[in-house]
Amino acid sequence: MSNEPTRQGDHHYKRVNERIDGRDDWARRRRKGIPTNERLLVVACMDERIPVEEALGLELGDAQVFRNAGGKVTDDVIRSAALTTNFFDTEEIIVVNHTDCGMMSAPDEDVVAGLEAQAGGSLDGVSLDPSLLELNIGDADVADWVRMTDDIDEACAAQVALLEQHELVPDDVTVTGYVYEVESGELRRPGERLAEEISERRD
Ligand SMILES: [Zn+2]
Repeated sequence: MSNEPTRQGDHHYKRVNERIDGRDDWARRRRKGIPTNERLLVVACMDERIPVEEALGLELGDAQVFRNAGGKVTDDVIRSAALTTNFFDTEEIIVVNHTDCGMMSAPDEDVVAGLEAQAGGSLDGVSLDPSLLELNIGDADVADWVRMTDDIDEACAAQVALLEQHELVPDDVTVTGYVYEVESGELRRPGERLAEEISERRD
């Protein structure tokens, strides 16, 4: 119960109506053309150690979040980014990659061999999308599709560039990338490896 007295001429029904309208905006925000609070899409690795919302200071309703293995700009990231930037007023995309990513944990050959074994020897005719059976790897390199990573900072900068340069993402969309350090719980800009820098001798 609020201790604040109702201001003169300010009837309570107005506040009830505000709540009702607020709830209606929330439930039907897409139909009403209301964007996310921050007009933001986040693309991040699916790793269970990354508290994406907490690390970026986001509340429910602030952003749309797309997570996949490695936080890589795959075809479905482009599909999602194209839809939200062109139709839902999203103006900004943030990519979050992280140290000790599983995408750095095995050589390409091992990953490809494992997937080929699962598919009975070859991935040539394997459909990549259950609703688009014609979408398969064919002659493409399976390792290119999996996209393992050698350097997480370089990978992060590359994902930013892929989104920035894609023709389905409008030019005025701001794209930024960060590396989340699982060892410290902090974000850094790609290429700014502070821990390494301050613990190595200067030339
Ligand atoms: Zn990861």
